[in-house]
Amino acid sequence: MSYKAAFIDFQGTLGGGGTDDIRSLEFFPFTSKAIRNLNVHEILVIGITNQSHISKGELTWDEFNEKLCQLKNNLALYGAHFDAVYCCPHTVQDNCTCKKPKTGMIDQALKDFDINLKKSYIIGDMGMTDMVLAKNVGAKAILVLTGVGRGSLNEYRHTWENTEPDFIAENLLNAVDFILNYTY
Ligand SMILES: [Mg+2]
Ligand SMILES: [Zn+2]
Repeated sequence: MSYKAAFIDFQGTLGGGGTDDIRSLEFFPFTSKAIRNLNVHEILVIGITNQSHISKGELTWDEFNEKLCQLKNNLALYGAHFDAVYCCPHTVQDNCTCKKPKTGMIDQALKDFDINLKKSYIIGDMGMTDMVLAKNVGAKAILVLTGVGRGSLNEYRHTWENTEPDFIAENLLNAVDFILNYTY
């Protein structure tokens, strides 16, 4: 049988730290609980993050992986885990196929796992990347109001004006509650 997946953005969705690179990310207090709730319901938890600081030479892969390891350890303390994490290191100028809202990271996940995209979700705080990506791949789009989520609905609404989120959640934990209570 194929899996449902929750594709989850990093900065602004899993934690604070603004739009700096991954090193500034610290989980919100509810993040491990939210991810464990997905784990126990056998919904794949897949991190998807744009880290253009890598292409710019401001963040190395070693630094990225070291921070990711810390975050995974935080989750493990709570009995939670990512099933996979995909990272786009590119800038717009690199013209790659993986920088959200392009679909490369989702395409790779579909090769690595048996996923039913129509029953899957993309959760993020940025309309023009996360919500547009969800529409590009035919998954459900959940906007969280943490991070730049409120701004996405207000001063930046024009940057994704042709896209509607399927659900607007206060935060990641509310988004997960929605997923677990939503029946098709
Ligand atoms: Mg974000
Ligand atoms: Zn890329």
